[in-house]
Amino acid sequence: MSAWTVRQEEILREYGHLGVEAVAERLERECGVRRGKYAIAMHASRIHVSLATRPTCPECGAIGVRLNKANGLCPECSLRLRVEEERAFNELLEAEAAGRTDGPEYERLAREYDRMRQRNSRLCRRYGLASKRERG
Ligand SMILES: [Zn+2]
Repeated sequence: MSAWTVRQEEILREYGHLGVEAVAERLERECGVRRGKYAIAMHASRIHVSLATRPTCPECGAIGVRLNKANGLCPECSLRLRVEEERAFNELLEAEAAGRTDGPEYERLAREYDRMRQRNSRLCRRYGLASKRERG
């Protein structure tokens, strides 16, 4: 078997947290080298790289974080998204409470809230999660 190059070992370190299959796939795609799972596991252990899979946030790429069951994101991203949607909703409510429900400013707020909601429901679809409506 050919020796491991520096780049191949980098791939091992970079993708180890995604598991041995992800590493094998990446090695083949990027370096054109096919290595078996056993060979990869052996070398990983030799250079002290863990191949244990760890959760990765699909939004910001944070590794080893606990992902929110509802939206599949790390705590930071979940919070950020929710806060942004809430803030847009609050601005809309405040405008309504103040009786400013027509004019370009109200339309802008309504559009902004719509955008936040759509983004969040897009995320739910992308990661196969239940939407707000489906959760009841
Ligand atoms: Zn995140």
